[in-house]
Amino acid sequence: MLEKKHLEYREDIRDFCLKQIEPLAKTLDEEQRFLHEHIKPLTDKGLFSVFIPEEYGGKPIDTISYAIAVEECSRVCGSTGITVAAHNSLGTFPVLAFGNDEQKKRFLPRAAKGELLAFGLSEPDAGSDAGGTRTYAKKIDKGWEVNGSKCWITSATTAFATICTAKTTEDAKDRRITTLLLEKDFDGYSVGKKENKIGLRGSDTAFLHFDDVNVPDENLLGKEGEGFKQMLITLDGGRISIGAMALGLGQGALDVALKYATDRHQFGKPIIANQAIQHKLADMSMELEAARLLIYDCAARKDAKQNYTRYSAICKLYASEVGRRCAEHAIEILGSVGILTGKYTAERIWRDVKLCEIGEGTSEVQRLVIARELLKELEASK
Ligand SMILES: Cc1cc2nc3c(=O)[nH]c(=O)nc-3n(C[C@H](O)[C@H](O)[C@H](O)COP(=O)(O)OP(=O)(O)OC[C@H]3O[C@@H](n4cnc5c(N)ncnc54)[C@H](O)[C@@H]3O)c2cc1C
Repeated sequence: MLEKKHLEYREDIRDFCLKQIEPLAKTLDEEQRFLHEHIKPLTDKGLFSVFIPEEYGGKPIDTISYAIAVEECSRVCGSTGITVAAHNSLGTFPVLAFGNDEQKKRFLPRAAKGELLAFGLSEPDAGSDAGGTRTYAKKIDKGWEVNGSKCWITSATTAFATICTAKTTEDAKDRRITTLLLEKDFDGYSVGKKENKIGLRGSDTAFLHFDDVNVPDENLLGKEGEGFKQMLITLDGGRISIGAMALGLGQGALDVALKYATDRHQFGKPIIANQAIQHKLADMSMELEAARLLIYDCAARKDAKQNYTRYSAICKLYASEVGRRCAEHAIEILGSVGILTGKYTAERIWRDVKLCEIGEGTSEVQRLVIARELLKELEASK
């Protein structure tokens, strides 16, 4: 059961999203352009500073409220959902969790003002296997010389800095990675090809290239070799937001399907009068509520500082599959108009939600994480 403050927060964010985010969602998707117009309203609403303490200019909220915010943004615009999720969970969180005071002072106030932070883990040869990172940071006097490429980076073009992983040894057997804060205005840092995606087309996904980038020692996050552990902790939190994104998209699918089923008449009655349609809507509602409970439960565990690795993989895995099923059901309920681009939102949701089963670890990887955690728990209980 949510607290009153969460119910009120949802109402407030829902109202904000309907007024400020939803009107542009269709255009951003059609024109495949970044949501620049959304940055100021999202910043003013505190949605780029959800974890940032007030001393750094943030408006911190608890993780359930954050999940509600990502859910409601995604309910009307998946691209906004992923942009908010990536900035908070993958961009600001690692600086807060692993950064020193000086790094927090340098990066967080800018992040709270709506300057985006990106997260650079994936590489052409390091997707599910992040330990296969090839980006290389060579130790030089007072810093590091970084060479390599990152791919699929959300907000790559717009972000003022990227939390990047690199190897600090050329030994192929040494799979330790290290995290560095790479700033956009460093010489040799460049944004590469922008991806032409089927979904989330209003989000900014591109390559990053590093060509002899000189990164000062002050930009090392934590200690050398701690990157893998830092990334796993970061992804635990990120998975709550991808789950919330899938939940919001699935809820958006139910919204459009329910309305259409009452408006559309066949055989002299609204199609919702047919039990087959009612059952689909009921299944969508049931699965969405179950996903919602898993996500909020996981968010509460995170705030209670419990180990939530298994729970975040479960909520992300379940919600992303539910979101996809809801999008498919919505298209089926709409019939032929369901697959028309731009007329109803069902097809956009279907295109947007697929990423939730891939990003921040595919569904196969979530199952590996869950099984690994089960074994750990079994061992610990012996
Ligand atoms: C829109 C979008 C935004 C993204 N944003 C970011 C970002 O901001 N930062 C970032 O670093 N990355 C980002 N990513 C990258 C994303 O996290 C990766 O694409 C994802 O982790 C999967 O990696 P891959 O695509 O290389 O797939 P691969 O690892 O090549 O996997 C291909 C297939 O093999 C399966 N597979 C791989 N290994 C195993 C195994 N051991 N057991 C069973 N099956 C396996 C996978 O499940 C998948 O089905 C983004 C991706 C997209 C599409």
